[in-house]
Amino acid sequence: MTPYQTTNHYLEQGFELLKLDERYKTLLITPSRELRVELIIEKDDGTIGNFIGYRVQHDNSRGPFKGGLRYHPEVDVDEVRSLASLMTWKTAIVNIPYGGAKGGIQVSPRELTPRELEQLTRKFIDQIGEFIGPQTDIPAPDVNTNAQIMSWMFDQYSKRYGFSPGVITGKPVELYGSLGRDAATGRGCLFAIREVYKHKGESLKDKTFIIQGFGNVGSWLARLLMDEGAKVLAVSDIKGGIFNGDGLDIDKVFQHAKETGSVVEFAGSEPISNEDILTTECDVLTPAALGHVLTSKNANDVKAKYVLEAANGPCTAEADAILNRRGIVAIPDIFANAGGVTVSYYEWVQNNQFLRWTEDEVNKRLEETMVKAHKGLAAAMDEWSCSMRTAAFALAIQRVKEATDLRGLG
Ligand code: NAD
Repeated sequence: MTPYQTTNHYLEQGFELLKLDERYKTLLITPSRELRVELIIEKDDGTIGNFIGYRVQHDNSRGPFKGGLRYHPEVDVDEVRSLASLMTWKTAIVNIPYGGAKGGIQVSPRELTPRELEQLTRKFIDQIGEFIGPQTDIPAPDVNTNAQIMSWMFDQYSKRYGFSPGVITGKPVELYGSLGRDAATGRGCLFAIREVYKHKGESLKDKTFIIQGFGNVGSWLARLLMDEGAKVLAVSDIKGGIFNGDGLDIDKVFQHAKETGSVVEFAGSEPISNEDILTTECDVLTPAALGHVLTSKNANDVKAKYVLEAANGPCTAEADAILNRRGIVAIPDIFANAGGVTVSYYEWVQNNQFLRWTEDEVNKRLEETMVKAHKGLAAAMDEWSCSMRTAAFALAIQRVKEATDLRGLG
């Protein structure tokens, strides 16, 4: 199954549980708009570079389209469609007034100079500008995009359409960004797993974690886990992984990665491959890099109690079924990593009112939102006796369906 088929497979499970008729399937699955744009830039050596960009707007019945922009060589329309749909269900799970969208450019940003990257980013905004806006569609960072890229986007959009800090979230704090946004997705993941354990009467103390991906999400989660007394046994990035059975000193790993550009060769660790990291024993396996890393080929070898889906779509449908059968609980992406979009929402609220909240205020609100979302999920799992993923999709479908019904088809 492709990523989009996988997302629709999970939706089907939700539809089945809710016994929804066919008309809703069409209404709720079909993306509202798909943009494919050509991005032509002049490279520093005088040659012309031609890249393809996408923005898929899935659903806006509950509020403006919302979702990140990814720069990656494997970005394609199927993946973006899947990620856009996931955003619709994610914003519904945490009950923030947004719909779902996603976008990206098929590019390896490491192969561009900073000037080329800026030019490409500004071109992208020129091409999709008329379809986004603070009240229509609000992009944000995702894989390989960051606060600097968001700044260029905000600037380019504002040049043509007027000063609009609310058009993009994930901006630097110095440029209308929110305190706490950088850590938000990792912090949200922490609250998600903390609540899952709390529901069982347990804490995170001494729980062992393995994290694939040491970027924005993975590195923040790892650092925050230290404060809870949990142990991170292994982490990895695109260059490889590191393992220490007694737990890694994450602050030092972070420093090492900052200095060398990778976690590999961290003193006091053994190397581990990105494949082996997924099948090493721990309490909580956390994919925090790319999608479809757990498949029918390795799901039988996972030796964890939980799979915390910090990444979007890390399990194929086949892997999900295997984990379920083996009693390994997948904490679904649409709940686990919803902290990022939640604080994006807070950033947008602050921008719209020209206010600035303190970091404590942001973190407290995020905690309340994640705790409430978990309560809703736990109640739904009890009521429907189903997996956490199916409960999450069914709950989200109910909320989006309600808004769709109230608005009518027009
Ligand atoms: P990032 O670009 O900051 O970091 C990605 C990390 O994954 C890096 O350490 C990179 O080296 C590693 N990586 C890339 N390819 C890899 C591979 N083939 N094998 C192993 N590691 C690899 O990205 P991020 O913002 O941390 O996003 C990570 C995941 O979390 C993505 O799936 C993204 O969609 C999801 N997510 C991010 C946010 C957010 O706010 N940034 C919000 C929700 C979900």
